[in-house]
Amino acid sequence: MGKDGSVNFLTTRLDDIVNWGRKNALWPLPFGTSCCGIEMMATFASEYDIGRFGAEAMRFSPRQSDLLIVAGIVNAKMAPVLRNIYDQMAEPKWVMSMGACASSGGIFNVYSVTQGIDTILPVDIYVPGCPPSPEGVLHALLRLQEKIQSGDTNYHRRERAVRQGGEAK
Ligand code: SF4
Repeated sequence: MGKDGSVNFLTTRLDDIVNWGRKNALWPLPFGTSCCGIEMMATFASEYDIGRFGAEAMRFSPRQSDLLIVAGIVNAKMAPVLRNIYDQMAEPKWVMSMGACASSGGIFNVYSVTQGIDTILPVDIYVPGCPPSPEGVLHALLRLQEKIQSGDTNYHRRERAVRQGGEAK
């Protein structure tokens, strides 16, 4: 209590403050397979500077990352490798599907291309476009941060299911 009677201490839920920390310190793992990967690199470079949003600590080890960014075509042969990488990431973790090819197969409507990575991974946020713009990636990152803060992500849903005695998917 201040001298003027104002209340000057902060109360919050532990979840809120933990989620605030998580959303502002994402460590992305880039999985760039084709042209979308170039747009992803541009997003990390100085012109767009994803570091302004606390997500510049790119890591090439799944064990050190919590945001998997899939940028580009995922061939059927590549799908188990991608799933393996996802499984090696520790919780909490999130997935961004960047561009038409990752999200739906894009123009490659053929047997050899995965028709959307959501068939093999739980995706938290999509970036539309072919190619998707760096602005689009940043917009998706901000939307993902809002979702992390509000507790509305696949990770949080799994966590709630486990707490309620269900199974994590
Ligand atoms: S969505 Fe377009 S830019 Fe991205 S990998 Fe596919 S063809 Fe290339």
